[in-house]
Amino acid sequence: MSKTTAEIRRAFLDYFANHGHQIVSSSSLVPADDPTLLFTNAGMNQFKDVFLGTETRRYNKATSSQRCVRAGGKHNDLENVGYTARHHTFFEMLGNFSFGDYFKQQAIQHAWKFLTEVLELPKEKLLVTIFHEDDEAFDIWNKEIGLPADKIIRIATSDNFWSMGDTGPCGPCSEIFYDHGEHIWGGPPGTPEEDGDRFIEIWNLVFMQFNRTADGVMHPLPKPSIDTGMGLERISAIMQNVHSNYEIDIFQKLIAAAAQIVGSTDLEDKSLRVIADHIRSCAFLVCDGVMPSNEGRGYVLRRIIRRAVRHGYQLGAKDIFFYKLIDELCNQMGEAYPELIEQKPVLEKVLKVEEEQFSRTLERGMTILNEALTELSGDVVPGELAFKLYDTYGFPADLTNDVAREKGFSIDQEGFDRAMTQQRERAQQASNFGKDYNDAIFAKSASEFLGYDAENNSAEVVELFDQ
Ligand code: ATP
Ligand code: MG
Ligand code: MG
Ligand code: MG
Repeated sequence: MSKTTAEIRRAFLDYFANHGHQIVSSSSLVPADDPTLLFTNAGMNQFKDVFLGTETRRYNKATSSQRCVRAGGKHNDLENVGYTARHHTFFEMLGNFSFGDYFKQQAIQHAWKFLTEVLELPKEKLLVTIFHEDDEAFDIWNKEIGLPADKIIRIATSDNFWSMGDTGPCGPCSEIFYDHGEHIWGGPPGTPEEDGDRFIEIWNLVFMQFNRTADGVMHPLPKPSIDTGMGLERISAIMQNVHSNYEIDIFQKLIAAAAQIVGSTDLEDKSLRVIADHIRSCAFLVCDGVMPSNEGRGYVLRRIIRRAVRHGYQLGAKDIFFYKLIDELCNQMGEAYPELIEQKPVLEKVLKVEEEQFSRTLERGMTILNEALTELSGDVVPGELAFKLYDTYGFPADLTNDVAREKGFSIDQEGFDRAMTQQRERAQQASNFGKDYNDAIFAKSASEFLGYDAENNSAEVVELFDQ
């Protein structure tokens, strides 16, 4: 039984509303009062303080369809877009939440019932992972739900211990996977081939039990709670009988529109998928008040826009094109998100101006990069070259990386960082004029954002820091 994305969103909210959950609207992509978070990355974000017990609501069960962006910070899928069938920068997360009401057993039963009774998914195509020590979860899946033991995989890594960021609510989780069938590449979770497209994670049930503080200590939460998240696009793919998120209704339409606008005929082209993905994150970010800029959230937005523009250029776009996709986006998502339609002229204007500015230098930068790639011996792009493209042509390192990766090259990140440091030192020596002012700005953006991925994304932080 095929269902549209809109129908699935509705069915989910209705199911949980019928089971006593309050339907709560999606919060903004810009988290309210949470400097530890770049963008809203999960349905639970807006309930963080409720889980921590520092805020109470008039309900203790909630459900939502939350818009999320994962393009920086702890959950960063920017580099996955165009490479996997399941990742977007922007997606909607369906969730049900219990604040000290029900816990593991009911959370698992609800999920199973929704998938197998409401959506009528075949039970034999589902399998789950649990945190390796969680015997309680094993018993519920095995004895109560009746899932055979070989379909319950114990995982010891952080994949089955969910956290929103380096601090905040967290706990062991159980993830539900769908088997898309043998003709698709990939192995079950826990195997070396797991990162294929065959076994796709659709729903994560988090048994929220701890609050991790900055010193790494895990404090038990006042009341064990439930936080779940299911990717709307991933469940839509299953319900629409396709194997990739990029083949669902919304994406088919966006990809067709992008192809028409840039004059491309190959609907399978990876660049079209990237553009279709990026128009959603860019439009929704602007809608939520983020403007392209040289620091913080605005800089992440700028990087996504530039990446989309670069892919359009690669497809042969002759003109400023990206903003033209807002039309189709409004057709596809305007009903669920009327603010898109209300703000349409603003969204178009912002994207248009940004592309105009970038396209002046894009062509020259691309020529230099492509020539350099042809002449390179080895498969590593020197850090100095990546830095020059960044410094002179406004190519963020991840954009150079995106181009290079397509041709089998990687970037010398260390060399890039070194060039960046040298540049900063030179700038400081050359002039002390405005030093205090600049320091104040750098200090602000660094302290604001160092929190979320100091470990893995040092280049990104340096970029934010240095702009
Ligand atoms: P994956 O392992 O596939 O990257 P995840 O474990 O990072 O997913 P969670 O943090 O558990 O994802 O988020 C809950 C659900 O949200 C996932 O089960 C998935 O259905 C969906 N989801 C997560 N990241 C994305 C994304 N980048 N694009 C689309 N859906 C996503
Ligand atoms: Mg992920
Ligand atoms: Mg996962
Ligand atoms: Mg997960």
